[in-house]
Amino acid sequence: MSDTRIIDGKAIAATLRAELAEQVAGMDRKPGLAVILVGDDPASQVYVRNKIKACEGVGIRSFESRLPAKATQSEVAAEIQAFNDNHAVDGILLQLPLPYPLDADVLVQMIDPAKDVDGLTLPNIGALVAGMDGLVPCTPQGSLQLIKSVEEDLSGKHAVVIGRSLLFGKPMAQLLLGENCTVTMAHSRTQDLAALCAQADILVAAVGREQMVKGEWIKPGAIVIDVGINRREDGTLCGDVDTDAAMGVARAITPVPGGVGPMTIACLLANTVKAAKRQSA
Ligand code: NAP
Repeated sequence: MSDTRIIDGKAIAATLRAELAEQVAGMDRKPGLAVILVGDDPASQVYVRNKIKACEGVGIRSFESRLPAKATQSEVAAEIQAFNDNHAVDGILLQLPLPYPLDADVLVQMIDPAKDVDGLTLPNIGALVAGMDGLVPCTPQGSLQLIKSVEEDLSGKHAVVIGRSLLFGKPMAQLLLGENCTVTMAHSRTQDLAALCAQADILVAAVGREQMVKGEWIKPGAIVIDVGINRREDGTLCGDVDTDAAMGVARAITPVPGGVGPMTIACLLANTVKAAKRQSA
């Protein structure tokens, strides 16, 4: 049994935000982030509020567009176009999920790739796969920084990523590949997930199933990144990993809450600053 380090995402995110605040203070024009919120989903409202507050904290201007749940595809498209055309706006975030029957896949692709701070447009996905400079999705970007806070050189490590969403699993795998890891992607059809996870030097879980990853699935000394956010019946949050069982086995693990979550917002701010610098260059 060895000590397991709890990776303090809050502290690492605070350091990143402080660096960004310094960069913003030195810029001729304040970067701007626009958030489009459609409908009244309570969780989305909380996320948007937190994002706007975080922008204020580093000196980024925020623009907000709230549309009713019954907004049409063309009304949302018009909002996106208006922000695409607005020179004070450097980043555009369309808060997902969108109410039925809006087609998020079509609307996201309407965002100007230079302002796509979620990294979901095809040019940014392509840049990531090609190993070129683009805007990288925030949660995997933040997760990689947490992994590198434990170990800088990931070359040759076996990384297992559970979950293959476009928002997280796929870009996470690409980022780890870019760090010269040997990457295995697992998903709902993967066979013998426990045995696969037990081979992982780096284990990243992004499924959305409470404590699915058991202690005995974890290779001794592994770095474990718990991306899942699950609400228990008593209202408290937990991740996809049985954290208590991982203690003494893993080398380091992210807590839920206070691990990946704070990094997601900090990386959104980082992407906005990056987009602003590139647009003013
Ligand atoms: P998602 O789109 O629902 O994807 C979930 C993935 O898990 C899918 O690829 C699915 O496989 C896989 N899966 C489902 N059941 C499985 C099983 N039994 N064994 C192995 N894989 C299984 O979710 P997401 O958007 O990637 O998010 C995943 C989790 O991360 C959620 O809890 C979400 O709240 C959290 N999250 C947190 C943050 C943050 O800032 N902290 C940001 C983003 C997401 P198939 O593809 O085969 O269906």
